[in-house]
Amino acid sequence: MSGFFRKNKKTIAAQLAVITAVVVLLFFVFGQKQVEPDTTFDDPPELKAEVMTVASGSDDTDGPGSGSGSGDSADDMEEETEEEQDESETVVDPEGQGGGLDGVTDSDNALNEEGNGNVGEPTIIPIVVDDEDPVIVTDLASYDNPRAISFSELTDDVLHFYAYIDHRKPGMKLQVRLFNDASPANGSLLEADGHNYGAVLAQGTNTITLYMREGDQIYDKISYTIIYMPDKADPDNPEVGEHPPVITVYSNVTDPIRTAHYIFSVGATDWHGDYIAFDHMIVSRDGKPFTASPTGTGIYEYDFYFDPPVTGDSYDVVITVLAWDDEGNSAYKIYTLTYEYVDQGDVIGTGSLNIDLTTIGLGLAYTGFTFDVEQGKPLSYYILDAMEYYGLEAEYSGTVDSRFYLSGISGGYFTYGYHVPDNLWQKIQDDDLECDIYRIDRDRLAEHHLTQGSGWMYTIDGVTYPGRGASEYYLDGHGNTVTLRFTLAYGKDIGITSNTGRLSTYCGVWINGGYEPRHTLDEGSVIKEATCTEDGEWARTCLVTNCGYHESQVIPALGHDWHETSRLEPTETEEGYVEYSCSRCAETYRNTIPATGGGGDPDPGNGGDGNGTGGDGNGTGGDGNGTGGDGNGTGGDGSGDGGDPAGGAPACVPERFSLDRVKGVRNEKRD
Ligand SMILES: [Zn+2]
Ligand SMILES: [Zn+2]
Repeated sequence: MSGFFRKNKKTIAAQLAVITAVVVLLFFVFGQKQVEPDTTFDDPPELKAEVMTVASGSDDTDGPGSGSGSGDSADDMEEETEEEQDESETVVDPEGQGGGLDGVTDSDNALNEEGNGNVGEPTIIPIVVDDEDPVIVTDLASYDNPRAISFSELTDDVLHFYAYIDHRKPGMKLQVRLFNDASPANGSLLEADGHNYGAVLAQGTNTITLYMREGDQIYDKISYTIIYMPDKADPDNPEVGEHPPVITVYSNVTDPIRTAHYIFSVGATDWHGDYIAFDHMIVSRDGKPFTASPTGTGIYEYDFYFDPPVTGDSYDVVITVLAWDDEGNSAYKIYTLTYEYVDQGDVIGTGSLNIDLTTIGLGLAYTGFTFDVEQGKPLSYYILDAMEYYGLEAEYSGTVDSRFYLSGISGGYFTYGYHVPDNLWQKIQDDDLECDIYRIDRDRLAEHHLTQGSGWMYTIDGVTYPGRGASEYYLDGHGNTVTLRFTLAYGKDIGITSNTGRLSTYCGVWINGGYEPRHTLDEGSVIKEATCTEDGEWARTCLVTNCGYHESQVIPALGHDWHETSRLEPTETEEGYVEYSCSRCAETYRNTIPATGGGGDPDPGNGGDGNGTGGDGNGTGGDGNGTGGDGNGTGGDGSGDGGDPAGGAPACVPERFSLDRVKGVRNEKRD
């Protein structure tokens, strides 16, 4: 049915309206074959289809499939003349007024709209059989679900749409609810204007749910999710949203480009730290977006081929990158590159190539090979040169010029003494990868050795693993370091995520001779509050499923926070007291004040003040008390290091736990 509701302008409808009016009348009076008295309505598009068919000379009165002309007129009707009472329970209104005729006379409305007035004759209105099941019809269905709409697409945040029940049965009605941040928990019921609705969207997720109901019974419901977000970043607003993505370019963009096969390597992360997929990025060169999918995962490689300059030796290109998430955040970056023409085969810089066997416990085993990078020569050539340099032999498929794939490396004692690090082997077990620890030999390491997910990969400058063969990768000559690494787990052990296996990441990498944890830790939270006397705990946990890693931090006990709550002054013969209680807990403490008759300073309060030895937090205030009467009220040892100066309390704690401090520790750990 949706074909009937395309947003066309009225064209044929206007011309055919008069004919239609007549035909409708004649048709209902004389021509209707399927008239039966006991049924309900027809529906607008169906009827129009019927009418149009008749008008064009056919006698097929049922035909719903009736060509575009009917679609247009139905469309007009839907969009502009919605006077009939869609929610009406009435089956037939013989008065023929307004929308009272319900389904059948929808056509009248359409005609009204064209200025022809109602057909008007008080004819007997037949009732058309409608055997079809009721169905919810809406133009919301013609968009993606979920669908993203940016602010500038709407006026006053109002999304207009239509919805109604086609083949509606008596008593049935449509209910439309909007759920979003601004609506109550069960949503807001939208008022219909005919078939038309207006939903005021809130930034973020909005859900419009259409219910087909009869009384309490819900026959059907459909939900449409609409993500309403700010417009995307552009040169004038390079960052949009509260948490714009971070765009990072991994290829050289500052020095002149001297390779004709330049690979622009870029990744963007959202504010959760996850890579944004390439379908949420637009990379353009001189304003023209790349349409081909890039290679790579997370970090993508876009191929730039630089044609020789038409004049001179160089020219500039402007590359722009736009990246966005589904929460209204986006970022835009501009890079201006200079291409300098260099003949094929000329040296454009240097590179080096190492072999890293950390995953089998042998560390960065082969280093020292350096080479000149020649314009137009792909990486595969340098890999073979390196093998020769290191006295190794490469096993590969394809050729150095096409589809080069390094499957194995062999050489005397190449894997001798290997040992997969225990923490890596544990991850491989947790990952449920198929393993065969015997499938390795002393002189050779090839794909599928040790695990099902093993093989050789290469990384440029230790950062990116291009998602393409080495015969399709060109170095730019800016001191590139190429490292061949043997992964045991689809790259998950050397810094790549993969969907193969139970784990998507190993939360760490085994590279360059060591292990480096790479957990994705949450923000951290207090899992146990510190009290006056007991330490608390603060912890953060790795968000990666099945990882279970967490790190915690002790929150030192707070110590009591004493306040004087009552006091009895001593007399010459009777001692008094000062009573303190803790503002945080129920703890109280009483300091007696000797009778003044004994001489000495009658104000024992000072004695208490002087005491602040609380450094140990153990309520040592008792000491101070005893000496309060020694004549000068300096009370206790008076050393009071770290004591609470305000409280004059007998005991307290040196330093309050501060979140800043914990954060400091966290950052250190992270580095
Ligand atoms: Zn983890
Ligand atoms: Zn306390």
